[in-house]
Amino acid sequence: MHFFGESAIVLMINIDNIWNLAKSKLSITMPSVGAFDVWIQSLEPVCITDGKLVLAAPTKMAKDLINRNYKEIIDQAVSETQLTIRGTVIVLESEIESYVSNSEVILDDQPVVKMPKEDAPIFTSKYTFENFVVGDSNRFAVAAAHAVAENPGKKNPLFLWGGVGLGKTHLMHAIGNYIRTYSPNLRIQYVTTAEFTNELVDSIQKSKNNRDVNGAFREKYYNCDVLMIDDVQFLANRSGTQEAVFNLFNSLYINGKQIILSSDRHPKEIETLTERLESRFLSGITADIREPNIETRIAILRSKCQEENYNVEDEVLHYIASLCSSNVRELEGLLSKVALYADLMGIRIVDMELASEALGDYTYKDKEIIDIDRIIDTTCEYFKISRKDIEGPKRNREFAYPRMICVYIINNLLSIPLKVIGEALGGRDYTTIIHSRDKISQLMQKNESIKKSVNDIKNILLGK
Ligand code: ADP
Ligand code: MG
Repeated sequence: MHFFGESAIVLMINIDNIWNLAKSKLSITMPSVGAFDVWIQSLEPVCITDGKLVLAAPTKMAKDLINRNYKEIIDQAVSETQLTIRGTVIVLESEIESYVSNSEVILDDQPVVKMPKEDAPIFTSKYTFENFVVGDSNRFAVAAAHAVAENPGKKNPLFLWGGVGLGKTHLMHAIGNYIRTYSPNLRIQYVTTAEFTNELVDSIQKSKNNRDVNGAFREKYYNCDVLMIDDVQFLANRSGTQEAVFNLFNSLYINGKQIILSSDRHPKEIETLTERLESRFLSGITADIREPNIETRIAILRSKCQEENYNVEDEVLHYIASLCSSNVRELEGLLSKVALYADLMGIRIVDMELASEALGDYTYKDKEIIDIDRIIDTTCEYFKISRKDIEGPKRNREFAYPRMICVYIINNLLSIPLKVIGEALGGRDYTTIIHSRDKISQLMQKNESIKKSVNDIKNILLGK
C-alpha cells in the first residue's frame, strides 16, 4: 500500500494497532471461534474516514454477512480501543480508493491506542452468571463462583477445573463482571498464564538487577484485591513462573485477597507443578466442571438462541445437542453454523432439513436412531460381554464398569428419566443409577481409560 505516502505510514501503524487490539477483544466476544477465524480474520484495516475505521472484506458475501451479523460487536470492540474512533465501515476492496482519499491521519504523538487501565481488565459483558446455564455438571462450580463474587477474600483460593470449552473462562468473567458491579472499588486482575509468563519475563528484563520483578509488575499484581489466573495448566514445566506465582499467591493470601485459578485438569495432574504450589491451589475450594448432560446442552442451546435471536426448531436443538457432548464451544459453533446458513439462504426458521444440510458433514438421515437398546448393545459389544451380564446382578469389575458406563452414556445422550434407565438395566433402583452416573462422571476427569471407553462408545453410536 505504498501509494498512501509518508504520513500514511503513521496512519497504517496506528490502524494496525487499533485493529489488533480490537481483534483481541473480538476473539473473546465473537459467538464462536469459527466465526472469528472465518469472518474477523478476513478483514483488513484500510484507513480512518469520518471517525470510522474502514475495514476491507474479501468478497461481497463476506461483507454482507459481516454487516448483518457482526457489525455491532465489531463496532463496539473498535470503539473501545480509541477514544476518537466511533465504529467501522465494512467495504469491498474495489471501494477502498474513495475512502482512502478522504482518510484522516492520526498524528504520531497522539495517544494511539487507549490501553485498558492497569487495574481495569476487560471482562466481556457476554459472560455473566445470568446467561450461564446451570446443570448437574457445573452446579457446585457455579455456587462456589457466586459465593466468591459476593464475598471476595473469604473463600480462598477458588480453583476451577474441567475440560476445554466447559465454561471456566465464562465463570471467571462472570465473577469479574459481578465484582465490577457490586464492589466497584476492588482492584481486579485477570490474566492468562501465558500472558502472566510474558509479563514476568518482560518485567525481570526491565528490573534493575535483572533478577526480580520490577515496580510496575509489583504494583499491578501485588496490589490487587482479586487476582484471576486462567489456564494454570500452562505452569507445567515453567519453574520460574511457578516460583513467581507462589510468591504472589502467598502475599495476596496473607493479606486476605481473593485468588481465583482455572485449569483444564486437577492440580495433581499438572506435570512438574511443585508440591508447595499444588497444596496452595488445593487449600481453598476446588470445584470441577464436567461434561453437561443432554438436558443441560439443550438448555444452553436454547439460551443461546434467545440471546442471538435465532429461530431454531426444538428438534434441531436436540439434534445438535446429540452431536457434541464434551465441549460447549463446539456446540455453540454448530448452532452458529446452522443459523448462519439459514441467514444466507434467507430462511427464518431452522428446521431439521436445513440443519442437516448446513452441517453436511454430519448426515443425520443415514443414521440409525439412538435409543436405550442400541446403547446397551453397543456397550456390550465394546466390552465383549453379553446383555445378560450387563443386566444381571453380578458385581465383578468386568461387568460393573461397563454397566456404569452404559448408564452414563444413556444419561448423556438421551433425555429419559433415571428410573427408566434403571428399569432397562435389569430393574436397578434410582439411587444406583445416580451413583453410577456420578461415579463415571467423576472418573472421566482423571481416568484416561474410562474416558476413552466412554468416548469410543459414543463415537460408535454417533457414527463419527
Ligand atoms: P473454558 O474456559 O472452560 O475452555 P469457556 O468459558 O471459554 O470454556 O466456554 C466456552 C463457550 O461455552 C463460551 O462461549 C461459554 O459462554 C459457553 N458455555 C460453557 N458452559 C456454558 C453454560 N453452562 N451456559 C452457557 N454457556 C456456556
Ligand atoms: Mg478458558
